[in-house]
Amino acid sequence: IAEEEDPEAAAIARMQAQYRGVWVFIEQTDGEAAKVSWELLGKGKELAAKLGVELCAVVIGHKVEPLCHEAFKYGAEKAYLLDAPLYGDYRTQSYLEAMCHLIEQHKPEVILMGATGMGRDLAGAVATRVGTGLTADCTGLDIDDKRNLMQTRPAFGGNIMATIMCDKYRPQMSTVRPHVMQMPEPLPEATGQIIRDAFTTPEDQVLAKVLEIIRDGDSKHKVDIGGAEFIISGGRGMMGPENFAMLEELAKELNGVVGASRSAVDAGWMPHDRQVGQTGKTVRPKIYIACGISGAIQHLVGMQDADLIIAINRDKDAPIFEVAHYGIVGDLFQIVPVLTRKIREL
Ligand code: FAD
Repeated sequence: IAEEEDPEAAAIARMQAQYRGVWVFIEQTDGEAAKVSWELLGKGKELAAKLGVELCAVVIGHKVEPLCHEAFKYGAEKAYLLDAPLYGDYRTQSYLEAMCHLIEQHKPEVILMGATGMGRDLAGAVATRVGTGLTADCTGLDIDDKRNLMQTRPAFGGNIMATIMCDKYRPQMSTVRPHVMQMPEPLPEATGQIIRDAFTTPEDQVLAKVLEIIRDGDSKHKVDIGGAEFIISGGRGMMGPENFAMLEELAKELNGVVGASRSAVDAGWMPHDRQVGQTGKTVRPKIYIACGISGAIQHLVGMQDADLIIAINRDKDAPIFEVAHYGIVGDLFQIVPVLTRKIREL
């Protein structure tokens, strides 16, 4: 872009040229990475190849160097490591300072984080501080011919898919929900470069202190629908909480878990952590069985990437049949018990 023709555009192009590299923030708790970080490295590799730049992992924590090596197995070529007691527990301020320090030093073009509690908190704080845009809860990411990150996400209550870009600012930042991107196969052996950075903020300048961590319920008994291979979900067509026992029985036969639509959750029939969809969880099971669920777009965005979708609905025109690989038009109260019995007999 010629300076004399369009000085503003020329200045933007000069600024953008300083930013290179795709970064993935490796979210961890007690040294264990959140799976979404590996999923993002898989997607990040694709984006980095299109941009012709390096894929880098950002690892912040205490005693977390092994995560750098793990990140190399998932495709990172380089890892920025900030390892200090200060980073032992996640706190917005210390992680924010760490991220902004790294961004200032190395100027990445793209930063991806999981749309988890931690990722959402950190990404918003970082984007605000460095003065760039952030697209939350992306379901698709690509690169256009001007090196812009094309970030697709549901908008207007999930009624449309919007593609958003941040064409004037760098870095370009997105959060992506767990299970939206395909989990890459880790390489058995891989090496990369670890860039150790000793940056810390004095502890007394970090205003929040972690006094105690109270885990959310008994994790052994918590159901993780996000990671389940078989999900049998019930909607308003289940008619009441007592009928979910029927789905539990089928789930038991398949070694699966029971999910729900928002209507079923709002009615108090199932807890919120079982909700599938835009304001619930995104799932990618091998088999998803939707029972008495109409297939509203807000539900579909959470489950349409399942390998196999089976829908049971008495309305042959229900939109769920548009995404289902197999559809059974009929009364679920007759069909589900037969299905359970037949599977038991196998
Ligand atoms: P309904 O739409 O009422 O469908 C019930 C279905 O059951 C019908 O198709 C009916 O034919 C069938 N049925 C009834 N009886 C039987 C029977 N005996 N046998 C077989 N079939 C039967 N929804 C979500 O699920 N997840 C979300 O995360 C989510 N987020 C939202 C976010 C926003 C901003 C908004 C505006 C909405 C959101 N919703 C979400 C709500 C969504 O729009 C729908 O209202 C909801 O998904 C409908 O739930 P349902 O399919 O269970 O109920």
